[in-house]
Amino acid sequence: MSRHARASEKVVIALGGNALVPPEGQGDVREQLRSIRGSAQQIAKIISEGAQVVLTHGNGPQVGHLLLQQEEARRWAPPQPLDVCVAMTQGQIGYLLQQALQSALRERGLSPPVVTVVTQVLVDPRDPAFEEPTKPIGPFYSEEEAEELRRTKGYALKRVGNGERPYRRVVASPRPLGIVEEDGIRELVEAGCVVIACGGGGVPVMRTDGCLRGVEAVVDKDLASERLATALRADTLLILTDVERVALRYDTPEQVDLERLTAEEARRYLEAGEFPPGSMGPKVEAAVRFVENGGKRAVIASLTQAVQALEGRAGTTIVR
Ligand code: ADP
Ligand code: MG
Repeated sequence: MSRHARASEKVVIALGGNALVPPEGQGDVREQLRSIRGSAQQIAKIISEGAQVVLTHGNGPQVGHLLLQQEEARRWAPPQPLDVCVAMTQGQIGYLLQQALQSALRERGLSPPVVTVVTQVLVDPRDPAFEEPTKPIGPFYSEEEAEELRRTKGYALKRVGNGERPYRRVVASPRPLGIVEEDGIRELVEAGCVVIACGGGGVPVMRTDGCLRGVEAVVDKDLASERLATALRADTLLILTDVERVALRYDTPEQVDLERLTAEEARRYLEAGEFPPGSMGPKVEAAVRFVENGGKRAVIASLTQAVQALEGRAGTTIVR
């Protein structure tokens, strides 16, 4: 596709974990900057070709570390609840992304405002996910520590590993209904800003008697990105991860990579169990929902092939 044809295409780009921390890394800020600068180059290229870009991103390792810091420092500073920690990581990662993206854009002679929006995502108090928390977060605990946390804080804990500290806190991962800040984000996009939003899937909130309050849960970042992309009437939802394509019989000798499929086909494979819940499942589901809700196409691709993916030369494209 030529530079011209893509001009003013509105694209929501969801950045996966490897866009923010190298897979082998410990998550210190120098490593984070290394990954983030690489991602920023790709995104700056896409913006320089004329696309209107909104970025979303995960926060797994960052919020894990922050929760660990809350626990370990509790004698000196009161631990902050999970919703506040998610908001903190939005600021942390947003700051690093803003800086890297501003520099990468500048190298290309561009200087649009780049802004991060602390984003709340509405969830339903009656979401069945609250009955059975499944998403492990934060540090690992011994049996005694787990018991203590269950008693004193009412945490749900699950045995997820072996060894001396096999327990982790698990929280619900409810479905995102809508983005509280969508009107503000839309105005920023219309005004020419590059917006970073929905970090870590957004801070889950519930509305009771007209008031919002934070919930100790996590929202999947791909599903939240679909809500945002749909609300903004984006043309394209681009989900960047660490594999080149969505595959059938993934990681078996019969693996088949998919280049293009309809929402209907994708849904069929999803229901047949081709895409597991914690990883590829929510990406394909987000893609399907986006095109069913009026989006032109969703593309799931490798971070390193972001530019080609938008041109339809890489990744898996899902259309209506
Ligand atoms: P991110 O951090 O980018 O959100 P995830 O780790 O959650 O990424 O999901 C991407 C991973 O999904 C890939 O690294 C791959 O191992 C896994 N995966 C599972 N099933 C499939 C499949 N059918 N096709 C492609 N990748 C798959
Ligand atoms: Mg990952």
